[in-house]
Amino acid sequence: MVSGEAWLIRIVDLCGSSVGEVFVVEHCCESMVRHVGWECGLHADPFACPDALISFDERFVEYGLIIHDGGTSTIGMSFCPWCGTRLPESQRDRWFDELGEPGSEDVPVE
Ligand SMILES: [Zn+2]
Ligand SMILES: [Zn+2]
Repeated sequence: MVSGEAWLIRIVDLCGSSVGEVFVVEHCCESMVRHVGWECGLHADPFACPDALISFDERFVEYGLIIHDGGTSTIGMSFCPWCGTRLPESQRDRWFDELGEPGSEDVPVE
């Protein structure tokens, strides 16, 4: 059975110096994979597409249910609506606690 998992992968250059870190996420089920990777020929922006349901933030490993109110609102999700699997925990805090250095360009400021 597939379950939602997230791993932190450290990217190193040829000398072995760390140049960054990314999360690699295995989505819980086919439905989630399909919705996270949603592509519509009419709407480049998922928030503009009435058929897009899920927004997924790879930086933070955050799943959100898109609210089509004309803006970019989402509702955080803890469980997959299709298979019921508990989704990986948001890594937002880790970004700022462990990876975020003051002034680092990789960390978005909100
Ligand atoms: Zn699922
Ligand atoms: Zn569309």
